[in-house]
Amino acid sequence: MKEIISQFISEVNARNQNEPEFMQAVTEVAENVIPYIVKNDIYYGQNILLRIAEPERVVSFRVAWIDDNEEIQVNRGYRIEMNSAIGPYKGGLRFHPSVNLSVLKFLAFEQTFKNSLTTLPMGGGKGGSDFNPKGKSDTEIMRFCQSFMTELFRHIGPNRDIPAGDIGVGSREIGYLFGQYKRLKNEFTGVLTGKGVSWGGSLIRPEATGYGVVYFTQEMLLHSNESMENKKVNISGSGNVAQYAAEKCLQLGAIINTLSDSSGFLYDPDGIDSEKLKYIMELKNIKRGRISEYVNIYPNSSFHKDKSPWEIPCDIALPCATQNELGKSDAEILLKNGCICVGEGANMPSTPEAIEVFIKNKILFAPGKASNAGGVAVSGLEMAQNSLRYSWTREEVDQRLQSIMKDIHKSCLSYGAENEFVNYVKGANIAGFVKVADAMLAQGVV
Ligand code: NDP
Repeated sequence: MKEIISQFISEVNARNQNEPEFMQAVTEVAENVIPYIVKNDIYYGQNILLRIAEPERVVSFRVAWIDDNEEIQVNRGYRIEMNSAIGPYKGGLRFHPSVNLSVLKFLAFEQTFKNSLTTLPMGGGKGGSDFNPKGKSDTEIMRFCQSFMTELFRHIGPNRDIPAGDIGVGSREIGYLFGQYKRLKNEFTGVLTGKGVSWGGSLIRPEATGYGVVYFTQEMLLHSNESMENKKVNISGSGNVAQYAAEKCLQLGAIINTLSDSSGFLYDPDGIDSEKLKYIMELKNIKRGRISEYVNIYPNSSFHKDKSPWEIPCDIALPCATQNELGKSDAEILLKNGCICVGEGANMPSTPEAIEVFIKNKILFAPGKASNAGGVAVSGLEMAQNSLRYSWTREEVDQRLQSIMKDIHKSCLSYGAENEFVNYVKGANIAGFVKVADAMLAQGVV
């Protein structure tokens, strides 16, 4: 088996040189899915995983724009249309200087499995740019978004490819992108998700990823006769996912120890309660400030420059910032300090070595493609509401989100239960694979 897997990985690697993040994501899936393929005749000999690892289409384009000093700036835009076997391409846009083909292909690959797990009809895609929104004025952001959409619009559409937000793309950017698409096409359609509620957005979409992570974490805990109540939680990041994960943890009676940003982490030994979280939301979303400013208001807390929060003892860790932010030594410290559960809010935040530590020690570990699927699930619900030209209430959307997260948990159990232990990584990879592979087999070699 090892030989079949390593042969497959060499073949994919030969075609995708210098793409470490993409290869990391493919390797993890291959290790779980290839043994399953070998045991199941309908998939064996169909080169099905090789086909899934090859994007259906990759678009790369120039984004030229003029900054506030009237200087001409040039960035690179991308859209990876990974897989449309079960629905139109669906996945976010990331604006961050670290964006490159490898990062976006890993995200699009993961997205294909994640979208399959949601049970909704969505294929996988991802896009973005190496543009850095940090420190840019509102008008610079608008000009960039307009230029970006002036090329992207010809590749997307409500039945073709429906982008959403990701790192660096929040409600402000979605607004500017949507405005330009509407102007170019002269059509008001559900081409993007994460829209404002007054112009086609869904209630609960901003909260969905963070809430979903906590709903999934709660399901894992309940399955082990545990609960969120009074558990100490370390969260990394302080963006969209981290903020709403923290909000839901508080609602379920947990205590928040930490939040972070790319400059370091904040630890509040008294717990970050809902009033303090409100301050953080304002600081990050409106003032666009840094998390270190918190200590000026709450002097009992401390800021740890250039460090990640895993060294603080906790019961539950929710990495909600970025890929590969939690390594082997972080995993070992978490375990040593008694952590019983890790729920990934970000995409691929734990390195393969860290995941090995969690699985070997049999703690509860949820991979992002299962635990952070709530965001895209509610994006799917936004698409449904746009097609119906109707809006569901907050309670209705939240109920649907909760039942989707429970269903994803069940799917992970179906394919990942190993005696008393549940290997959620294996469960999510195989469950996500089966639906996409079945659709691809039915549709022939295309
Ligand atoms: P935001 O841009 O709202 O927030 C990102 C947060 O992560 C910020 O606090 C940011 O700090 C921090 N961060 C970014 N890069 C790094 C880095 N290299 N090192 C340390 N911290 C970093 O993004 P989201 O909250 O939307 O996304 C966070 C993660 O969740 C990503 O992995 C994304 O792919 C994933 N995700 C998001 C979904 C969504 O619906 N938004 C859906 C599913 C997954 P700073 O402000 O300093 O940059």
